[in-house]
Amino acid sequence: MLHIPKTAPPFFHLLAKPTGAACNLDCKYCFFLSKGALYPGSRFRMDNELLETYIRQLLESHRRWPEVTVAWQGGEPTLMGLEFFKLSVEYAEKYKQPGQTILHTIQTNGTKIDDGWASFFKKHNFLVGLSVDGPRELHDAYRVNRSGAGSFDQVMAGWEHLRRHGVDFNILCSVHAANQDYPLEVYRFFRDEQKAQFIQFIPIVERVSASSSPLPNPVRMKWPGSGHPLDARTDRLVTGRSVGAEQYGRFLIKIFEEWVRRDVGKVFVQMFDITLASFIGRYSLCVFSPACGNALVLEHNGDLYSCDHYVEPGYKLGNIKEIHMSELVASDKQRRFGRDKLDRLPRNCRECKVLFACNGGCPAHRFLETPDGEPGLNYLCAGYKLFFNHVTRPMNSMASLLRQGRYADEVMSILYQ
Ligand code: SF4
Ligand code: SF4
Repeated sequence: MLHIPKTAPPFFHLLAKPTGAACNLDCKYCFFLSKGALYPGSRFRMDNELLETYIRQLLESHRRWPEVTVAWQGGEPTLMGLEFFKLSVEYAEKYKQPGQTILHTIQTNGTKIDDGWASFFKKHNFLVGLSVDGPRELHDAYRVNRSGAGSFDQVMAGWEHLRRHGVDFNILCSVHAANQDYPLEVYRFFRDEQKAQFIQFIPIVERVSASSSPLPNPVRMKWPGSGHPLDARTDRLVTGRSVGAEQYGRFLIKIFEEWVRRDVGKVFVQMFDITLASFIGRYSLCVFSPACGNALVLEHNGDLYSCDHYVEPGYKLGNIKEIHMSELVASDKQRRFGRDKLDRLPRNCRECKVLFACNGGCPAHRFLETPDGEPGLNYLCAGYKLFFNHVTRPMNSMASLLRQGRYADEVMSILYQ
């Protein structure tokens, strides 16, 4: 019987990238396309043997956990073709532990989704994450194909198939320089046009080195094997496509103000949900948790990395064909990676009024200095401060309702009518 190390967490989240960085689009801000340079000459396709190993190990590693998520991401995972995912569902059924239920999820740009895909997703209750950055002009600013044409029409065609088949979907919207000043246009498009119930807003923070980036122009540096620069973590500059820190905070506030007056309990915005959870002392997203290390990435060849933001040689834990993933997740290296998030927090954050909600944000974005010159301040700090301070009163009100066993949506009548 498999021995699970004592230091292994009972639950962890793993994003599997069956096509590695390979994608049929060429989104200008995509940090992951450059990761192709890590595997020169690769076809970027997970083989069936590794697929089986991955699913088996994932379910074995969660022996004591009732719900396991099999999460696919990319690059663009649908490039693997439907048969691959049919097989993944079969393996999940084969290796399911007693009492376990499986949730299948996939993050996609939506351009390949047709009737066949949509009926498969529906049949197996997939939760589909669809990347959309807003209405056409905002979406097409950066989400383009290789010839530079916007992908909006293709994505909407994919979305139509999902809708027609009744597939559960959530919208993943990147927030960047092109859409940061249009929060309500973006939010209302998702809510009213796309009928989205679940929405995530992900800040685009693209770091570059001073030598390669004349700000504020976008960087298109050539890297072997790709048209994208490898994420350069040594400088404090960001590209002109990146969201501004304060703009990100204001973007969220504008949407929050509309949401909290009419959409609580109807539309679920991840940032608002996790903020509310932090007001009652619960953490579900690594970015705003005190420590991290339980959100790993599996590459197409079996290499396991510490996190999606750290698919780099220094953060490779090993290969699951050689070492069981439960050992890699439990390894000193990975546990230290997770603790570093807390241990490296600058004093400025430790003394911050909204630390309980922010926890310094993601270490991948901590490349500024604090006002007293300590390294490790989050690039998005100004926006986080604005947002968390702004929402404190209604969040406290919703948290109090939940503690009384009531529903958070009562806040709409209590505070705003
Ligand atoms: S580095 Fe950032 S994204 Fe990665 S696990 Fe930690 S908080 Fe999450
Ligand atoms: S708001 Fe800024 S200072 Fe406060 S915890 Fe977050 S990053 Fe640190």
